[in-house]
Amino acid sequence: MNDPEITWLSPDTVQIRQPKSSHWEAPFLFLLFGRARVLLIDTGATGDERVFPLRDTVETLTDTWLRRNPVVFTRPYPLVVAHSHAHRDHIAGDALLAARPGTTVVGTTPAQVIAFFGFRSWPDETVEFDLGQRIVDVIGGPGHEPSAVAFFDRETGILFTGDTVLPGHLYVRDRSQYVATIERLQRFRDASTAPVRELRGAHVEMSATPGVVYPPGTIDQPDELPLALAPRILDRVRSALDEFGDEPGARVVRKRFILAAD
Ligand SMILES: [Zn+2]
Repeated sequence: MNDPEITWLSPDTVQIRQPKSSHWEAPFLFLLFGRARVLLIDTGATGDERVFPLRDTVETLTDTWLRRNPVVFTRPYPLVVAHSHAHRDHIAGDALLAARPGTTVVGTTPAQVIAFFGFRSWPDETVEFDLGQRIVDVIGGPGHEPSAVAFFDRETGILFTGDTVLPGHLYVRDRSQYVATIERLQRFRDASTAPVRELRGAHVEMSATPGVVYPPGTIDQPDELPLALAPRILDRVRSALDEFGDEPGARVVRKRFILAAD
């Protein structure tokens, strides 16, 4: 058993990192508490709770938040489990939470994501998801994976970008959709009345040495970059895409990310 790394990013927002020792992907998960429900973004890389006790972690954090917010009295506290995208290392814990009372697990196909959030013109539209006195904007984001979305939390100004933008490999599966998604995120950032303060993706793979990545499979990353990226990283990704073809093996290396054909 390895304890997950818990970071309270605000009184209503928790970052959970699945420990490296349990899985080299060490994905980041996020819990966003509203006054009507709590949103969990992603469920990690394992369905084995002895390796990563996801349900216990969510229950403990929820109990802590409810104790600090005694005006909220719904029990069990409603939980919505959604995903940055449908790759295995972000959805493997779904079954652990599906059995929890009061829990809705959003499906992982594009059609299920579109239906749940109520997109009418996917992926160009941004839709609102209300947690109860806390609105999260859901932005269509295919390109790394067909059902990918980004979540923007107006309360903290954090844009949660999954595997689409992170300090590491940006694996591009569909180049034209990926370019459209980066441009959509740029437009969202520039138009948002609630300022976008930072981006948080789902992994860290870059070292503190510019352009040097820890290779897939690395367990020990003593010099990794912080997860948070400044909003201007979107401009760097967009301009790097101009040098990026989608032929097999294509790679464009930048200080904080590496575009790579998937
Ligand atoms: Zn992925």
